[in-house]
Amino acid sequence: MERIIGELQGKKAGPLLIFIGGLHGNEAYGIKALDNVFKKLKRQEAEFCGRAIAIRGNIEALKRSSRYIDFDLNRIWDKHHFNTIDKLNVVEYNELKELMEIMDAELNTVEYTQAFLLDLHTTSAPTIPFIVTQYDNHNQLFINRLNVPFITGLSGYLDGTVLSWFCRKGHCGLAFEAGQHHSRTSIIKHEAFVMLSMFHTGFYTGLHQSELNWLQNILDDELIPKHQHYSLVERYHIDADEDFKMAEGFTNFQRIYKGEVLATNKYGEILSDMDGNIFMPLYQDQGDDGFFIIEPVDR
Ligand SMILES: [Zn+2]
Repeated sequence: MERIIGELQGKKAGPLLIFIGGLHGNEAYGIKALDNVFKKLKRQEAEFCGRAIAIRGNIEALKRSSRYIDFDLNRIWDKHHFNTIDKLNVVEYNELKELMEIMDAELNTVEYTQAFLLDLHTTSAPTIPFIVTQYDNHNQLFINRLNVPFITGLSGYLDGTVLSWFCRKGHCGLAFEAGQHHSRTSIIKHEAFVMLSMFHTGFYTGLHQSELNWLQNILDDELIPKHQHYSLVERYHIDADEDFKMAEGFTNFQRIYKGEVLATNKYGEILSDMDGNIFMPLYQDQGDDGFFIIEPVDR
């Protein structure tokens, strides 16, 4: 399995876009979408402004269709792990090193107006498409243009992500979650998102309004009227051997209430201690984030 999915080198100056697919090995549909879009756009390459590259995330885990082998590759991009990266024999440390080498080489040798990381994911629960990001001066304009619900306030709850590593360098970035892992629709939504982000970053300016509307429609079609900006306010961390089991039937963003049974473990029921919206309820075996709770942010 090759690390590079595709590359598009425009003739004019512009941004640097780095797409990642399959940072989690059970989320291969981001890769499929990137492969489709990059192949389709290859013959128009000269028209583009700047450079786009698409890379595979956790290759060893992808081979086994497993979320990860030793460590979650999207939780180890921090000092704590960088300190042990050359001392421990961890599959994901090798993956991280290769990914970091490619991204650093792009950031340090390519000329660009602005750099963007676009990290493609899917979820275990049914969901509308959404973005996880920081809402700061770098990102704000781009996020608003995308017009997809977004979640901020990750710091302290969701650390060591590739996104936080990339943004700490002063660049723009986001994670995009298209839908459920094995829903074919997730490929189509990923493709639409990749095209839209190419447009809204100024990389691909040749899209017509009718095409843009059509692409936006693909992301919008299930969006119930609701808030656009949410903040993360709680994370349920699963301890080893607690036998965590998410209660059946939650969809992402669903409204939940104080006292509601969200999950069970060997000690009994796990109740919500607040009103809010459930976020990324865990319906798969791997991972130690049981669920998150988010709240709407008023603009
Ligand atoms: Zn993921």
